[in-house]
Amino acid sequence: MCATSGGTPGLANVTSKEEIFKTVYEDLPSNDNPNKVRPTTKIPVPEGELELPEFYERVYPLDEIIDVDYLMPGCPPTKNLMRDAITIVAKHVTEGAALPPKGAVIASEKCLCDECERERNVENDRNIEKIYQPYEIMADEEKCLLDQGIICIGPATRAGCGAQCPEANMPCRGCMGPSAAVFDQGTSMLAAVSSILDVRDDEPLLSEDDIDDLMDQVKDPLGTFYAFTLPKSMLNHVVKERRS
Ligand code: SF4
Ligand code: SF4
Repeated sequence: MCATSGGTPGLANVTSKEEIFKTVYEDLPSNDNPNKVRPTTKIPVPEGELELPEFYERVYPLDEIIDVDYLMPGCPPTKNLMRDAITIVAKHVTEGAALPPKGAVIASEKCLCDECERERNVENDRNIEKIYQPYEIMADEEKCLLDQGIICIGPATRAGCGAQCPEANMPCRGCMGPSAAVFDQGTSMLAAVSSILDVRDDEPLLSEDDIDDLMDQVKDPLGTFYAFTLPKSMLNHVVKERRS
């Protein structure tokens, strides 16, 4: 997922290279770096000069930097996905089978909820009154976690992992990236959360203050809704301007 969409390192895009270097190499009290040495791309060594990768101003998905043939999501991609990718290439080489179009995502087209066995409120008549962190509630192991007020990114996430986190009574964090029908995982998930809060224009059950109170309960919204895909999202990165 780090290559396809930026992964969790992509959350660095909420700040700048300068702020990261300053924090890590200067300000952290646990850091023993009296000369405030920062990483460089070239280091002299007895054998000559060592070249190190450049630390870019922000995190990019790989296909923004180099030409990529196929994408495989997951953190890491599951063994089934890897088997599928190898099978596709093997069949092409041995039988002349057609390859997927360039740029295809080698994974299921469905969303995670389609392969999750938890019972969902298909009537969509939920009205969640509190959003819970997973450690705040003993979740019912049969019912959809989102229906119980636990933010589970399943509705906006690609299937293919076997819904292993909900299977273990933990919400999905979205590591398979957006499903085929979803362009932006975070905004799609915000819409899903709105539906469980019953946020509607016509006669909403909750007032705007109620909705604000509920959304305030989502700790770290960016890290919750874009844990793996910020660099490839519509938001992409955050630019901070210093006010003079
Ligand atoms: Fe399963 Fe999560 Fe989807 Fe609910 S929201 S059905 S728990 S994947
Ligand atoms: Fe990743 Fe979600 Fe599957 Fe867990 S359930 S492995 S977070 S896609």
